[in-house]
Amino acid sequence: MKNFSDLSKNLKQSAIRSVSLRCAELGGVNLGQGLCDIPVHADIKQAAKVAIENNKNLYAPHQGIADLRMKLVQKIKNFNHIQIQSEREILISHGSTGAFVACLKSLFNPGDEVILFEPFYGYHKSLLELSGVAVRAVPISLDDFILDIDLLEKTISSATKGLVICTPCNPSGKVFTKEELITLGRIAQKHGLYVITDEIYEYITYPGFQHVSLASLEDFSDFTITISGFSKTYNVTGWRVGYAYGPEAIIQQMSLVHDLLYICPPTPLQHALSEALLLDEAYYTQMREKFLHKRDLMLSSLRALGFPMPTPEGAYYLMMNGKALGIKDDLSFSHRLLEEAKVATVPGRAFYLNPADGAGLVRLCYALEDIKLEEALHHIREVFS
Ligand code: PLP
Repeated sequence: MKNFSDLSKNLKQSAIRSVSLRCAELGGVNLGQGLCDIPVHADIKQAAKVAIENNKNLYAPHQGIADLRMKLVQKIKNFNHIQIQSEREILISHGSTGAFVACLKSLFNPGDEVILFEPFYGYHKSLLELSGVAVRAVPISLDDFILDIDLLEKTISSATKGLVICTPCNPSGKVFTKEELITLGRIAQKHGLYVITDEIYEYITYPGFQHVSLASLEDFSDFTITISGFSKTYNVTGWRVGYAYGPEAIIQQMSLVHDLLYICPPTPLQHALSEALLLDEAYYTQMREKFLHKRDLMLSSLRALGFPMPTPEGAYYLMMNGKALGIKDDLSFSHRLLEEAKVATVPGRAFYLNPADGAGLVRLCYALEDIKLEEALHHIREVFS
């Protein structure tokens, strides 16, 4: 047999899958995978059934159904403070991941460079590499979440064509401030970079922190592609519906690519999610309250055991550091948590270009029912106190 392609041959199954399998064998609590087990709102489930019953089962228009795009124009105006001029500026995609892939294929050539902030979301890095794009990373310290602008400027080269921002950030929980985004937008403008902002956790922010979209600031919408989706806000990760918006020419190009790759995201589910956009403010407030409670439960319990960790400002992940307890290695930390405490986590190296930079760290997802979080904390206490 001939060789696999150069771009795919080094792909490895993510550690999350093997850790999840082992966790299931042990009957443990899986805080590794970014999954949420909070029930889907009844109106959304009902709308999906109705859409299938009403025969909304065929291919959708390649940019997505008109009703959902029209409702998104309103949502983007009211929530993101961005005025979309035409529905041609929005693409409904196969999850936000489908939008990200279509964006990479539309904007970058093999050999181009794109900058990520570390710790990064692993799919961003891996999908860039699968497109032949060279990934550069600028670290953000977990001690204070402060951006190193000098380092960013030094990392930009003549080959740099784009910057990826994830806010609120998976895995760190950082929410980029308006001031930081203005600084980043001006740098991108100065160097003629595209900015892709992944805002999938935009509704999950904690008191004192507000989600700001880069494209709502100055004239940054000229070069910004904003990506979001329904997976996290409505807890429908398996439905595979997301969206992107930005300059019409870019969205049109992405739509062509997306059509070839995926044809369309599931039609009945686009109809159901159109209903989701009608939910009132209380839905979002309650969701934030739930996650705030879970965040504080995890933070106070784990800090009491001596694990330092930054306070997440948004999203539903924690980066826990074992160094204070003499744990230097991320793999052995994660292994111990799994084998002794029966709690699955993701080793820190998954979020850094250089595995050594993730030393001592693991990521936990706290989007599970409280009873499971309590069980995980109970086992962690047994092993580490
Ligand atoms: N972006 C980030 C930052 C994520 O954490 C995830 C899932 O964990 C995704 C995108 C995937 O989103 P989707 O289900 O819309 O493809």
